[in-house]
Amino acid sequence: MHRRTFLQSIAAAAMVPALGRQSGSSEWGAPVFDLHFHMRPQVASNLAHLDGAGVTKANLLTRGAALDQVKALQTAAPGRFTWFNSYDVSQADAEQVLTQAVKQGAQGFGEMKFHVAADGPELKRIYALAADLHVPILVHFQEVDHFPNEGTWSTGYAKTFESILKAYPKTTFIGHADAFWANVSADYRNEAAYPSGPIARGGITDKLLADYPNLYGDCSANSGNNALSRDPSFTSDFLKRHQNKLMFGSDCSCSDGHGGGVSQAKNPAATRLAGKCVARETLTVLKASASPAIFRKIAWDNAHTLLRIP
Ligand SMILES: [Zn+2]
Ligand SMILES: [Zn+2]
Repeated sequence: MHRRTFLQSIAAAAMVPALGRQSGSSEWGAPVFDLHFHMRPQVASNLAHLDGAGVTKANLLTRGAALDQVKALQTAAPGRFTWFNSYDVSQADAEQVLTQAVKQGAQGFGEMKFHVAADGPELKRIYALAADLHVPILVHFQEVDHFPNEGTWSTGYAKTFESILKAYPKTTFIGHADAFWANVSADYRNEAAYPSGPIARGGITDKLLADYPNLYGDCSANSGNNALSRDPSFTSDFLKRHQNKLMFGSDCSCSDGHGGGVSQAKNPAATRLAGKCVARETLTVLKASASPAIFRKIAWDNAHTLLRIP
């Protein structure tokens, strides 16, 4: 029997209620918190991904008015969902809308993915607001198009983000996406979205994670998976060095937690994960590269500490 069929039949036979698994162990040997889960329109499709991938709880990334949907999910599966909110930072009412979301229960800003500079005025005021409201801000950094004319997102990470970390010491940043992860290697010059091969030690992201207590890392997406997979001799030491700073996330678009449906749409550079569940692939790399204690921190504890979840 295929492992997947086997696991599905165990799940069907056991019919473990969602509530019973809130903080217990999962198939991964520790409970799993998915920091980077884009909320889906239907309640059931959200739960299908969590349950399929063996994920205990998830942080819903939402944009704009989302409270009703978030509440419906939290009611359907109590204790399994926190949420972040995002809003177009170039709009005049961005601070007002994001403040309101936090008052309604959002525990962070994100993901912030807009065609602006990482050190531009649009994001700077949101960095300051995140500090004022004591919530973390999750930022998507990308310099290389996935498809023609996509454009860049939070541009200038490698050149300017250290100045932001210095200027906003009270803001808790969570780094994510292509430029954040490609810059674990010191030889990266924006030549590809997902560079492969051995990592040159001393990359910017490794250094910033070490030097700035206000920077955390989100391991989600093809970018995170790629960085942790391309050079196994690098990965375990990297996870050890930043064991209190890294958090598991999926950013997976598969339907069932097993790679079903459309995965990696509009991103030909990420075909290495086509047909796979990013959550499963990244949890597998983390589990193979970290001790059980470090795996548990990255998969569960760190996000709870950062989001102040009891
Ligand atoms: Zn992103
Ligand atoms: Zn998936």
